[in-house]
Order: sequence, then C-alpha cells, then structure tokens
Amino acid sequence: MRSFLDSLGVGNNQSLQTRKIIQYLLREKGKTVLEIRDFCGLSLPTTIKFVNELVEKNILIESGKKESSGGRRPTVYNLNPDQGYIVGVELLLKSFRMSIINLHHEVIYDYETDNFDISQRDESFDFVARTVPALIRSKGIAEHKILGVGIGITGRVNRAKGISYSFLNFDESLTELLEKQWPYPVFIDNDTHFMTMGEQVFGLARDKQNVVYVNLSRGLAVGLISNGQIHNGHSYFAGEFGHVTFFNNDKLCICGKKGCLSTVVSGLALEETYAEKTGRYLPYRDLLTLSKQGDRLVNELLSDMGEQLGKALAMLIQVLNPELLILGGRFIDVGEYLKYPIIRGLSLNSLPQLFADCEFQVSPLGEKAEMLGAYALVMEKVFE
Ligand SMILES: [Zn+2]
Repeated sequence: MRSFLDSLGVGNNQSLQTRKIIQYLLREKGKTVLEIRDFCGLSLPTTIKFVNELVEKNILIESGKKESSGGRRPTVYNLNPDQGYIVGVELLLKSFRMSIINLHHEVIYDYETDNFDISQRDESFDFVARTVPALIRSKGIAEHKILGVGIGITGRVNRAKGISYSFLNFDESLTELLEKQWPYPVFIDNDTHFMTMGEQVFGLARDKQNVVYVNLSRGLAVGLISNGQIHNGHSYFAGEFGHVTFFNNDKLCICGKKGCLSTVVSGLALEETYAEKTGRYLPYRDLLTLSKQGDRLVNELLSDMGEQLGKALAMLIQVLNPELLILGGRFIDVGEYLKYPIIRGLSLNSLPQLFADCEFQVSPLGEKAEMLGAYALVMEKVFE
C-alpha cells in the first residue's frame, strides 16, 4: 500500500519539516509563511525554502493575500485541494452514507441510501466492500490519492483493534478484512465519536477543554471531551448515554433492556409515540419535516422529548462540569425549536452554578460533523 506521503514525494526519507508543514495545512486553511514558521519552529529562510519546494511540486498553492492593517499584504498558502482525498462512511442500522472530502475540508461528493440493513452481516459487508471503491472510481479519482477511509459505525466499536462488536463482527477485524479488498487504509470508530472529533477539530468544540456532544438521531448517544481529549473509555465504548435506565416505563429498548433513556428520547421513540397517537407510522425524518411545517402534535411531542433530554443531560452537567453542550445529529434540523425545552429541562434539574457555567449550542456543522471526524482521524493516522 503506497502511502499518501509517498505519493506526494515526501515519504519517510524526506524532511520531517516538510511533513510538518503539510500536517499543519491539512488542518488549517490559508496560512502565511510567518504562521507556518511559528508553527513549525523553523527559521524564516528555511521555511521559505521548504514552502517554495512544495509550491514547485504543486503540493502547496498560493491562495491570495492576507488582510493586514498596513504594509505589504503577505501571501497565504493552502494545500492543493485535489492532491488527496479522504473518504468518510457512515453505517447506521438502515442507512449507508459516503462522502469524499478534499484537502480543503470540502465535501465534493455525497451519496446516501436507505437500501441497507447492517443487521444482515454478510450482505452489508459485501455491499460496503463493493460500493466504496465503485463510488470513488465513478468520480474519476485515482486510488493512490485516497489518504484513507474512515468508517463511523453505530454500536460498540473498538477503534484501536479495528473491531465493530455490535455489527459486522467477524473472526478477523473489520479493518483487516476491508484492507484486504481495498488499496487504501481503513479506520473505524463509533459514529458519535466521529461526530465529536469533527466538532473538536473543525466545529464549536475547537479550543474547548470540556464538552458534551449530543448525537440525537434515530438513537441517542453522547461524545465527551475531557481536558481537551476525547474520552473513549477503557474499551472505547464510552458515551452510550441512550442506554442508561432512566424511566420506570415498560418500553423495550433495541438493546434488550427496558426503560432506557432512548425509549423516550430518540428518533425511534418519536416514531413510536406518533404512531400511538395517530395510528400512523412515519419515519422520524418525515416527522421533523412536519415539525418545521408547524405540525402541532409533532411539536408537542418534540417539546416533551426536549425537556426529558434536558433533564437527563443535567446529570452529565453535574458529573462532568462541561463548558459547552452541543446538540448534534439529525435533530439539528429542528434544533432551534428543541433548544428551549432542553434548556428548560436543564435549568430545572441542574445546580445553578454548573448550569450557568455551561453554554448550550446547536451544531452548525450538521451532518457534515461525522465526515469531518473521519477526515480528522485519517489525517491523524497518516502522520502517526
Ligand atoms: Zn437501551
């Protein structure tokens, strides 16, 4: 397997400094020579020499001038966005999504299908193994330009071992099986962990030390950032907040227990409650659309759900004392509406000081968060 850095002609035998410049610009956009110098800790002449070499190789490009308060405006540099791509894949219970992201963190291609059932282990593995390279080829992208594929999977995933336990669990690790079939490196993690990482590297959690990220989608889970680090837990399973026993109800959860938080707070729960009230079953994403159209019943259900979520999150605020709580996942479509009931639930159930010190925001990254998390993980691995 030829690595991304080899393909750029800056493989192991090249200078560490060159790699460091590339690594910096993979994360940051539009930097000047002085900024690159400060980050890499080089002298100015050395920085200029390396930057010029990278421009000659077409790895870096000049992207205009930086705004400045006076004097000559310095040139800013970016990576050539088409020197490499990262593929992000999301595997949920009933959906497959794949994005291709260029080196400017832009999603240049997005594909999604609901014609997927992850519980059918062999069929869904074959589908993923076949579809990912086919979609890459269909965009005319050469395989050596793929830095890696990051796959976010619902359920329990150990990213260090490359094993997905809840689904797609084989004798061999999932990453090894896929790497036997694909010419690019594969990394996996839980879907919510990816979203949290996306938010940490490119979103609201950037430069924050203690954050709770809430993925409210068909299910419910949280991602935790503690002292600036993602908290994975001992087995990498941390964040299964949807499966804490929270209600004294008789509702059976998909995990097999009764009374889990997600039996009331999740897309699945919304579908069930709506069907109980109306006799009509609608997928939760359709219900979210109804909410945006002002549907009274759906909005009442959402309001109740938001308050229960706030009450549950108050526990996390007490335990973790975060500075920021981010609402992410598919429900951000109605995020502005959900915000107030969540805050009500939080404020009624938190200690005032902890509540006052914690900001609440709806993620502006939206569904892109997970793909950016895949980008962040692949990027980290390329330079390990
Ligand atoms: Zn459960």
